[in-house]
Amino acid sequence: MAELRAVAPDPHTPAFLVTIDTEGDDLWGRPRIITTRNARHVQRFQRLCESFGLRPTWLTNFEMARCPEFLAFGRDVVRRGTGEIGMHLHAWNSPPLQPLTPDDLTAQPFLTEYPQEVVDAKIGYMARLLRDRFECEIISHRGGRWAFDATCAQSLVRHGIRVDCSVTPDVRWVRMLTDDEERSDAAVVDYRGSPTRPYVVDLNQPQRPGRSSLLEVPMTVVPSSLYRWLPQAYAVPLVRRWSWAWQPTHHWLYPDGRNLPAMLGIVKQAVAQRWPHLEMVLHSSELMPGGSPSFPDGQSIEALYRDLRVLFRSVAGHFRGMTLGDFAAHWQASAAAATPPNAAVAHTTVTGARA
Ligand SMILES: [Zn+2]
Repeated sequence: MAELRAVAPDPHTPAFLVTIDTEGDDLWGRPRIITTRNARHVQRFQRLCESFGLRPTWLTNFEMARCPEFLAFGRDVVRRGTGEIGMHLHAWNSPPLQPLTPDDLTAQPFLTEYPQEVVDAKIGYMARLLRDRFECEIISHRGGRWAFDATCAQSLVRHGIRVDCSVTPDVRWVRMLTDDEERSDAAVVDYRGSPTRPYVVDLNQPQRPGRSSLLEVPMTVVPSSLYRWLPQAYAVPLVRRWSWAWQPTHHWLYPDGRNLPAMLGIVKQAVAQRWPHLEMVLHSSELMPGGSPSFPDGQSIEALYRDLRVLFRSVAGHFRGMTLGDFAAHWQASAAAATPPNAAVAHTTVTGARA
């Protein structure tokens, strides 16, 4: 029985995007053997989303693409048109394999750390695998560990990807190195100063807007009030612990069992300020009891579903449920409608001049 609908007839209604990093069980524990039991727990989440008119994008990685249970689930979602299968790429176990560190399963390197031809081969392999297995177009992507750079962006476009959602505004990711490694810039992904609103990517500098066929739909990450007013509070060693205990530096639209008030605050702010989109993330393994540090048992999973129902109810009527592909198509249609006939000629001229 449907509860409330997030779908509104108004084409200008902003979008609520549910994105699921669909990957093996508890990868936070750096397992030597990766299992995919969480595939048995995704159906419940899909049903909940459907009851609210939400359309999840299942950003699927290598082990899940090979998991028969997830394959049956994903094909059914595609057949019924109630969600989307996209790409999620964990560079350390995604073919073709090329060792990068003394122990890649522990180090979990970013895709941005590999040579250009390896990046392209890995993205090409995953695009073909997902297309063949799920028998659908694959047009959306999120980098494993949020990694994304110009090499990745250019390769994604080459392999048919039209929308990326790796950008986490204002966040800088630094991979912890193992003892035998030397620091490299490629092990840092810096989204400080990146747009918070969707934008067309500059393929040479994808943290910036430009001209290309790739749309970026950033993750919803909002600096906390303490971080906004007193960022030094998180830099001074003695004060830092107190600051973190009181407020994290950023609030994410990422349910963790403790942050429902912060997420509702984000929705309220988004409605008041008419943001064009909200993007929520979860991992498929977080839908399974014991599949993640945040949800260690059945009780915590039930609490997660209680939070999700409250969150989804809060967006109903304000936001339209969309997959990443829906959003890209909507964006393209809006851009075309907003472009006067002569502007298309001017656009071509400008692009040519830039090239
Ligand atoms: Zn991942």
